[in-house]
Amino acid sequence: MTTLTGAGVRASSLADRIVDSPAGYSGIEADEEWIAEIQRLKKERNATILAHNYQLPAIQDIADHVGDSLALARIAATADEDTIVFCGVHFMAETAKILSPDKTVLLPDVRAGCSLADSITAEELQAWKDEYPDAVVVSYVNTTAAVKALTDYCCTSSNAVDVVNAIDPDREVLFLPDQFLGQHVKRVTGRQNLHIWAGECHVHAAINGDELEEKARANPDAELFVHPECGCATSSLYLVGEGHFPEDQVKILSTGGMLEEAGRTGARKVLVATEVGMIYQLRKAAPQVDFEAVNRKAACKFMKMITPAALLRCLTVGADEIHVDPETAQRAARSVQRMISIGHSVPVSQ
Ligand code: SF4
Repeated sequence: MTTLTGAGVRASSLADRIVDSPAGYSGIEADEEWIAEIQRLKKERNATILAHNYQLPAIQDIADHVGDSLALARIAATADEDTIVFCGVHFMAETAKILSPDKTVLLPDVRAGCSLADSITAEELQAWKDEYPDAVVVSYVNTTAAVKALTDYCCTSSNAVDVVNAIDPDREVLFLPDQFLGQHVKRVTGRQNLHIWAGECHVHAAINGDELEEKARANPDAELFVHPECGCATSSLYLVGEGHFPEDQVKILSTGGMLEEAGRTGARKVLVATEVGMIYQLRKAAPQVDFEAVNRKAACKFMKMITPAALLRCLTVGADEIHVDPETAQRAARSVQRMISIGHSVPVSQ
């Protein structure tokens, strides 16, 4: 049985099985029936589905494009479809809306937030700017639209170093909100006039040096892929410095960089320090390599809120729609456009 839901979209009885609870939408298996229904609804809405590397495998498999924040922002900016369904977290869908204000941007569950984006508000950033009125503000893309509107350059982990290197070396830089990425950028650029906000992502901060050291000692021949947002990025460099781990076996990489490196590595085993969803893409990119998470519990509950049920509901009823105040969007667009024009990133198209 089908019913009309508006915008010419027909809902099937499969949608009746969706269960809504404070933990998110559930009750739907990612089976053949679900796949066919998602494909049909996507066509009826003239939508494209973008999925972040940390999404559940079923969501990654059905998406039109899978990638890191930067790759997906670039795709969102040039998409031909009327509707962008962003399978990721709130700030990512907001960024897509900033880049494509005339399109409908849907996030399958508006409750999918980000602890890192929540670690600085627009008011806190304004107060920091007032302390350093001549500084250039560089914000990691994990920020709200209001923070982006007060930002000169946005960046992601795949182009943060390039963005900071593109700024006049004599200007002071305010880097926010991630302290671990900030320390990585400071180390690589050697820039002393870079001030770092003390924010962190609870998932990445939980991947700590002790776990890393234990795994590294148990697997002396393995390579180590470390995301610069991880609390262990500093520990991995310490291990190298102490001679516990050869320098050429440690790679500090963005999620896009990890996928590139997976295709090149000659290692049989790779320890991966980032959110566990990344392992799925890495195994697809290099099935011959044994990828193991440094911390198997490092799962982002916000990313995992985009379930098969949430995506089905989203395409059936056209929700949750993301709106950004036009003036804020216009100011934020400047810093986001600068981000997408600097550096590179690797999308995986399906
Ligand atoms: S893994 Fe961390 S930074 Fe990424 S969305 Fe989740 S809370 Fe935010």
